[in-house]
Amino acid sequence: MADLKLCYMDDPLLRETSAKVETVDRYLVEYCERMYGFMEALRGAGLAAPQVGRLERFIVVHRSILPPAGDEVLVNPIITFESDEVMTDEEGCLSFLSVADSVTRPAAVTVEYVDLGGEAKNMEADGLLARAILHEVDHLNGVLFADHLSRLKRKLLKDRVRKRLRELEVEGKAGHIKI
Ligand SMILES: [Zn+2]
Repeated sequence: MADLKLCYMDDPLLRETSAKVETVDRYLVEYCERMYGFMEALRGAGLAAPQVGRLERFIVVHRSILPPAGDEVLVNPIITFESDEVMTDEEGCLSFLSVADSVTRPAAVTVEYVDLGGEAKNMEADGLLARAILHEVDHLNGVLFADHLSRLKRKLLKDRVRKRLRELEVEGKAGHIKI
């Protein structure tokens, strides 16, 4: 876990489009286990591979927001349905030190993905899970949650995060943050 490092808000890696995963193998499974532990330690609800600097299309989702048999890792996720109904809720991102703001997103989605056994699957999600999946899939396309905010709100949010990042750098804690 110690070898994973979080990319923060202004990191250019977060603006890249990630590449499709070609093979699900044991190296990917092991990596996802580490990523899951890293996300849990930071108290995140989800984490996308580019947030730890790996530009490949897979995400992990915290089991507390999944249905009982739901997969914690979604490889090559594609949103195949978004409801017209929308929902506005507080949303944060580990790459923004979990500083949150209200974001409006579709209330329900269907996502197509491959699980860690290499099997193609579908998951229907609403509420927090739908929000987490949309947020993490955005990361795979270089989109950040702040992009969904108005220009003014985005600026205020980024200023808050930058200030906090500077404080953490001074304290020597950036990269090892517990929120
Ligand atoms: Zn995020």
